[in-house]
Amino acid sequence: MSYLDHNATSPLRDGARTAVERAFATLGNASSIHAGGRAARALIEDARAKVAMLADVPPQDVVFTSGGTEANALALWGAVAGALEGRQKGEQRITRLFVSAIEHSSVLANAAAVTERFAGLRLETIPVRSNGVADMEALAESLREGKGRALVVLMAANNETGVIQPVAQAAKLVEDAGALLMVDGVQAAGKMAMPKADYLTLSAHKIGGPQGVGALVIKSGAPYAPLILGGGQERGARAGTENTPGIAGFGAAAESCQPGTAVLRDRFEAGLQQIAHEVIIFGAKSDRVTNTSNFSLPGIGAETALMALDLDGVMLSSGAACSSGKVKRSHVLAAMGVDDAAAGAALRASFGWNSTAADVEAALDSISKLVARKRVAA
Ligand code: PLP
Repeated sequence: MSYLDHNATSPLRDGARTAVERAFATLGNASSIHAGGRAARALIEDARAKVAMLADVPPQDVVFTSGGTEANALALWGAVAGALEGRQKGEQRITRLFVSAIEHSSVLANAAAVTERFAGLRLETIPVRSNGVADMEALAESLREGKGRALVVLMAANNETGVIQPVAQAAKLVEDAGALLMVDGVQAAGKMAMPKADYLTLSAHKIGGPQGVGALVIKSGAPYAPLILGGGQERGARAGTENTPGIAGFGAAAESCQPGTAVLRDRFEAGLQQIAHEVIIFGAKSDRVTNTSNFSLPGIGAETALMALDLDGVMLSSGAACSSGKVKRSHVLAAMGVDDAAAGAALRASFGWNSTAADVEAALDSISKLVARKRVAA
């Protein structure tokens, strides 16, 4: 089997598996005073330090969540509600929400819902250029034009194309405008230096940690109102007994993940060009995280290709994984102006910590057979 779908989920690293197993063997609720509780607390705080190191933030800013989706939801709802609640303390409410067109569905859906829910909040889309990079000139102009406090949302790296977004540039614009910045760092973590933001989100399973655990980093002083209330865990920012094994696994994965080289991705793309010179590689001219290749073989639909590859034991994905398992037209490629035919044929190969040159060759072999069959049929 050749698993080339690390952007959907990266297999559990050995260290993370050991940490999860050890945590399962630990007695106690981290809120309990006794020795068992203290042991669980120690595991969580150790993991918090490791995740904080990965994100380059103070450990006390890290709030553990049930994953990247929850972290994105908490950031959006928490920031808007927090700024509103903080008005007595001189906090200015957020009236403008700028969200890039290529954000993950968890950002897009929550941004739309929060705008619907809070009267006086307006949602604006930051357009994206054909190279897959969010348009900072358009953002600068919109920030200049309107009035009121803004929250700008821009992912660090896109999950479909791997294109690195100009977060440092956005941060400068945000600072000049007295706005707030939220960064979805889920696909960037472990692959590049993490950018600074008021809100930063992470997910363990994209870096070889367990599924169902993530983090929201809230910069000290940034407005935030908790959505999940209860026992006051996570300094009141997210109540609920902590997922100690998941968090311990997240910490171990954060500790061991290292930015990879582009060797496998580049070999793969060179192989694609040899097989079919008409291949389109999306975002190829932009800075990309080194593990992602999003490409289209004109005339071969994504669904057909995925099934053929799967029969050969090669696991790729069509752009974004969709919960229904169906191939969905990509909003990311649409925002880049890719035509329907090319977008409908888009496939994503994403490499990770256990990918090998043999995986690349297996994928290329399978694609080569597929293209040859297509040529015979044509
Ligand atoms: N943000 C991005 C950019 C993602 O790629 C994903 C997962 O695909 C998420 C958020 C959601 O993370 P999770 O799967 O942990 O809910």
